[in-house]
Amino acid sequence: MCDYCILENASRHISNTYNINISALKNTLNNSNKIYRIDFTGGEPFLVPNMVELCIELTKKHFIVFNTNLTSKKVKEFAEKINPERVSFIIASCHIKELERLNLLSRYIDNFLLCKNRGFNIWAIEVGYPPLLKEVDKYKKKILEKGIYLTFCPYMGRYKGKFYPDSYSEKEVKIFGLEEFNFNQHYPHGQFCNVGYNVGLVKQNGDISYCIAINKSLGNIYEGIKFKDKLIRCPSKFCNCPVNMNDPYLFRKAISEVGSYDAEWIQPFKNTIKDFTKILLYKYLTDNTRKLLIEIFMRNKFFRKYLFKHWI
Ligand code: SF4
Repeated sequence: MCDYCILENASRHISNTYNINISALKNTLNNSNKIYRIDFTGGEPFLVPNMVELCIELTKKHFIVFNTNLTSKKVKEFAEKINPERVSFIIASCHIKELERLNLLSRYIDNFLLCKNRGFNIWAIEVGYPPLLKEVDKYKKKILEKGIYLTFCPYMGRYKGKFYPDSYSEKEVKIFGLEEFNFNQHYPHGQFCNVGYNVGLVKQNGDISYCIAINKSLGNIYEGIKFKDKLIRCPSKFCNCPVNMNDPYLFRKAISEVGSYDAEWIQPFKNTIKDFTKILLYKYLTDNTRKLLIEIFMRNKFFRKYLFKHWI
């Protein structure tokens, strides 16, 4: 319920979480004969019931990364059973206002120190949300007293009609400690990206696509992963996590292996319309209205052809 959540209120929901099929996933990874870095992010990864068992299996061969609010009771078991050398890092999202509101700050701190003392590479990161500006020092001090260094990442979104991170003043950048961030990297339109080549985004049902902006399939974690043999040029105006910044190692590797020659231009338009229409159809319309709209679409020859070609 953080004010700065990247999802609008209307799109936030508690989805059912279910076990990940560990043996099927292991088969897929083994068949592809690569070593992976698997980043768990969310929502909250620890809501997956068999997350710790999954991590035990994955870390036998692969590496993992966690982006978690660190308040789950499973963190203790995770810290005790997982080899810290196989966890590249843990981003412990410190949503300070919500932690206070829900009386979970002490649990966050205990779990953080537990992981730190077990040797995990763990960072406490809060979002540099403009309304927090006046309390930055207070919260940094409060957390530091417990032995944790709190840092901030840029807020991406609107606040009081202004778009961030563009609207930070120099003073605000300094207060949040964001001087090192290269905000230009969040505008990657037309630049090379290695999604599809050696990075993919996995959804809860196991489907793998290029990234949040490109909904083209790379397979499914239970059936097989089919990476492409080219880089692409980013079709998106703005990206929260451009891969060259998020995983510089894999980006450099892709460039050195295939270079920029023949990079593919992805057209975002079709995907955007498709996704928008899907959300509209399945999320906001009642069953009867949805039925009626589909009937109207199916009566039209052009739309019928389009639906059969691209959706069915
Ligand atoms: S939106 Fe981000 S992840 Fe997707 S292609 Fe562009 S830079 Fe890469």
